[in-house]
This record gives sequence, structure tokens and C-alpha cells, in this order.
Amino acid sequence: MTFTDRQRRAMRLIADTFAPGGDGVPSAHEAGAVDLALEIVAGNPRRAEATQVRRLLDVWDTRGFALAVTGRGRRFSELDRAGRERFLLGLAGSGIAQKRVLFAALKTASVFPYYMAGGPRLWESIGYPGPLGVRDDPPEPVIRPLRATSDTEVDCDVVVVGSGAGGGTAAGVLAAAGLDVVVLEAGDLHDERHFDGSERTGFLELYALAPQATADGQVSLLAGRGLGGGTVVNYSTSFRTPDHVRQEWAAHGARQVATDEYTASMDAVCQRLGVNTDHDKAAPRDAILERGARALGGTWPPCRATSSGATRTSSAGAAGWAAGSGPSSR
Ligand SMILES: Cc1cc2nc3c(=O)[nH]c(=O)nc-3n(C[C@H](O)[C@H](O)[C@H](O)COP(=O)(O)OP(=O)(O)OC[C@H]3O[C@@H](n4cnc5c(N)ncnc54)[C@H](O)[C@@H]3O)c2cc1C
Repeated sequence: MTFTDRQRRAMRLIADTFAPGGDGVPSAHEAGAVDLALEIVAGNPRRAEATQVRRLLDVWDTRGFALAVTGRGRRFSELDRAGRERFLLGLAGSGIAQKRVLFAALKTASVFPYYMAGGPRLWESIGYPGPLGVRDDPPEPVIRPLRATSDTEVDCDVVVVGSGAGGGTAAGVLAAAGLDVVVLEAGDLHDERHFDGSERTGFLELYALAPQATADGQVSLLAGRGLGGGTVVNYSTSFRTPDHVRQEWAAHGARQVATDEYTASMDAVCQRLGVNTDHDKAAPRDAILERGARALGGTWPPCRATSSGATRTSSAGAAGWAAGSGPSSR
């Protein structure tokens, strides 16, 4: 998918308003974030969504669009920086839900690629040392997938579609029971031979590029893509499904979730993964949440993680407690 000069220019105007840079820190377009933002749009497998973005960029810098958004006919490019910020903030504070959704989408589309494309000066300014680079002693891959590039016939007892947490577990259990199992995975194999640890490579290669947010635009949606699915990117926080959640799901019809069989399945998975509380040191970001929770009189339970989980010096891990489960779900 290619973009016209008009569309590129509109994206640049928007992204540079969110991330103007300064003091040696690059702006969005200087950091390469505009190209990256458009690359992400182009990679969206939902063609209708990509087309919608192109249409928006086509009209963004017109008098008609400005009139519809601000009630005034001054084009976005005719505004100074403060005016452009007011334009965007007008969307954010609008009483019309679609305008707020548009703001959230534009902010994500601008700021996310900005920090990903980043570069040393920007990363330095936020205290991020930058990606680690490709390992020089990567282990040999333990799985060598068969890449079917033409009609291929494979005999098996069971076909599992998707190699993520669910499919991978099902395939492992079935194979251990003596069945011949084929796992079909739409994504590629990514391992330490290729992965450079950068947000850019990680996002473009390891994540599904759609859907990226809930319909109201307020919550970003992340899902893994590739051999291993979400397990390749997840934080290895491994808490058991809380009883009250199991009851709630059962009430919605998923009755097996409330059974002893489900409890035994969780036991088996926790044992196989070596779930423990030895790696629960909160990352700096999570430590702030921990302090806040304690200040409010809450508790901060130990973070259960798999035995391969590193001590939580990154943003991983304890964040799961803060974001999803809350202290009661230990
Ligand atoms: C950044 C991140 C952090 C997370 N952290 C945690 C955590 O700390 N603890 C935790 O418990 N959970 C965490 N999760 C959630 C957890 O990873 C997911 O709930 C889990 O992976 C979902 O398993 P799944 O099998 O349903 O789907 P996935 O793991 O998403 O696997 C689905 C797989 O199917 C493939 N696929 C899709 N369609 C097809 C098709 N038509 N044909 C073939 N293959 C197909 C996809 O490419 C993908 O590989 C995290 C998720 C993310 C994204």
C-alpha cells in the first residue's frame, strides 16, 4: 500500500503536533515515526481500516474538515503549534464520542511509533538505554517448522490451529497422549537468531497488526503473532484464574471452567511451567504502582511467574497485577 504526498504530509502534521521534539530531541518526522506510522497502517490486514485512515488523511488538511471539527475554516497547516494542539485537544475533550475515538487513534498512531523509532537522543531523554541487539550466541532452534509453500499433504491424527497458549498446550497434551499432532500457525518463527530486542522489530514482527484498539478507541489491544502466539511476547505473569471469575464465566455458560477438571488443568500447567514467586521484584514502573496501592491501604501480593521469568527489572511482570487482576486474585 502506498500513500500520496498529501496523506504523508497530513500524517506528519499530526505526528509532529503530538511529538514536536526540541532541545536536541527529534520531532516525530525527524525520528522516522511518520514512515513507521504509515508502515503500520499499510500492514493492517483489515483493508477497510487502512482505507479509512487514508480517507481521513486525504481530508485532514482541508477547510471543510477544520470547519466540521472546530467550527472554523482554518486549515490545520495554517495554524501555529498552539493552534494545532488546541485543534487536537478539541477532539479529545469533545462531547461527541467519535471525535474522542479519533483523538485516541491519532495519539496512538503518532506517539507509539515515535518511541519505537526513537533513536539514541530520544531514548536517552527518557532514560531508556535502547535495544540490546541480536544475541551473538543464540541457541539453536528446538523447533524447525515445515513451511508449506505449495499444496502439501501431511498425515496426522489431530490438527491444532494456532500455536499460542491454548493451541500449544493442547498440542503438547495430545502429543504426550501418543497422538500424531500437526499445528498450523499463520505467523512466522521468530527466535533469538533474528530478534534484536527493538520495539520496532518486536511490534512489526511479533504482534497482530489488527485490531489495535477497542471500538471506543480507549483500550489498546495487543495480541501475539507467530510460532508461540502470545506466549512469545507475554510477561510470564502466571496467576490462576480467580474463583469469582470462574464462577462468573460458568454463569455465562462456560460451566467446565468451574469444575475440578479445570482446577487440575491449571495445576498441570503451573507445574509444567514451573510457576513460582521467586521473580517478583517489581520493575521501577510497577514499584510506583505498588507504593500507590500500599499508600491507599491495599496489599501487593507476590507476582507468580514461570521459572524462566527474569527478575522483574523491566516493565514486565508485576504490571499484570496492577492492570488486570488486583490483589484479590492471588
Ligand atoms: C504483551 C502481552 C503480555 C501478556 N502478558 C501476560 C502475562 O504476563 N500473563 C498471562 O497469563 N497472560 C499474558 N498475556 C496474555 C496471553 O499471552 C494470552 O492470553 C494467550 O497467549 C492467549 O492464548 P491463545 O492460544 O488464545 O492465543 P495466542 O497466544 O494469541 O495464539 C493464537 C495463535 O494463533 C495464530 N493464528 C491465528 N489465526 C490463525 C489461523 N487462521 N491459522 C493458523 N494460525 C492462526 C496466531 O498467529 C497466534 O500465533 C499477554 C499478552 C500480551 C500480548
